[in-house]
Amino acid sequence: MIPITRVAIDDAIKAEVLSVLDSGMIAQGPKVVEFEERCSEMAGTRAAVAVNSGTAALLLALRSFGIGPGDEVITSPLTFAATLNAILETGATARFGDIGDDFNLDMGTVEPLLSKRTRALLPVHLYGGTADMASATNICERHNLALVEDAAQAHFATTPSGQAAGSFGLGCFSFYATKNLMCGEGGVVTVDDPDLEQRMRTLRNQGMERRYDYEMPGHNLRLTDLAAAVAIPQFDHVEAMLAARRKNAAALGKGLEGLPGLVTPNAAADAGHVWHQYTIRLTQESPIHRDALAESLAEHGVGHGFYYPKAVYDYDCYRTHPRVRIDGSPRAEAVAASVISLPVHHHLEASEVDHIIDVVRSALGA
Ligand SMILES: *Cc1c(COP(=O)(O)O)cnc(C)c1O
Repeated sequence: MIPITRVAIDDAIKAEVLSVLDSGMIAQGPKVVEFEERCSEMAGTRAAVAVNSGTAALLLALRSFGIGPGDEVITSPLTFAATLNAILETGATARFGDIGDDFNLDMGTVEPLLSKRTRALLPVHLYGGTADMASATNICERHNLALVEDAAQAHFATTPSGQAAGSFGLGCFSFYATKNLMCGEGGVVTVDDPDLEQRMRTLRNQGMERRYDYEMPGHNLRLTDLAAAVAIPQFDHVEAMLAARRKNAAALGKGLEGLPGLVTPNAAADAGHVWHQYTIRLTQESPIHRDALAESLAEHGVGHGFYYPKAVYDYDCYRTHPRVRIDGSPRAEAVAASVISLPVHHHLEASEVDHIIDVVRSALGA
């Protein structure tokens, strides 16, 4: 079986975790500080605030701007539920633009949604490819909006202009077990502004600035040194990780080129993509339905995923939610019904990539 993701724990990670256990300081401590330094380096920001999940990162970023009841946050309709849940947890209302050919928020669909209540724009760098941050920044500047990036899938991704994901607004990264960099459960917000940074550090720790001196009602969103110790050694191998994912994506693109009814992502045109997922789309011209391809993959030992099976709001609990405002995202709904992601991770062997290509080609009758 070639799984869609593979979690690998090497000796360096084991040694780092053991050293934390031996130190007896297993909650937030010096390893979290080191993790934060690595993360601010990653995004090229002045600072980073570690938290215990990507969802917590989104919540903390939104809360640091004071976003809450009565406010509206505009995001992408094609994302993981965490993006939407974080908005709802602040008490704000969520609204959705539509997506472009790159699966990311089409900034042209944002402007019609702007109202007096709009406080933040929350683009998602889906699959590891960056959203149109030049336009996002422009919209936020013109309309005085907070900019929060869901970079959960985009560690070390860069835009076409060469700027790092997570450096445009507050950058929210996840280190969940299956992300490109991981520690089981973890997250971080990358930040330039010292006031926002301080607010996030306070909110992360019960709203407490000095011991038992509370500035605001807060949370416990702290990361542990044990988790930070799992993540830290992986920063030493980022270049190899990215090179492997990019090589696999290029090989998949070449191997799957020209099949009728199959659209591959344009790897060559997006050098800054970090390939958290390699997602293809089947169009009307495809000889088989997506489910038949999925069956064929499973039969021949190739893992796959539907990211995501529906638009994020397209569930009863959101459709009936008083603070989920659906304006219609037909492109996201159509794309969600036609995408399928193939293994692209950095632990794949070349022979496994060839096998994936063979299975897809024969399923499509090529
Ligand atoms: C994984 C993910 C999150 C949430 O991260 P957790 O660490 O699982 O809380 C948020 N947004 C996107 C797009 C993700 O892929």
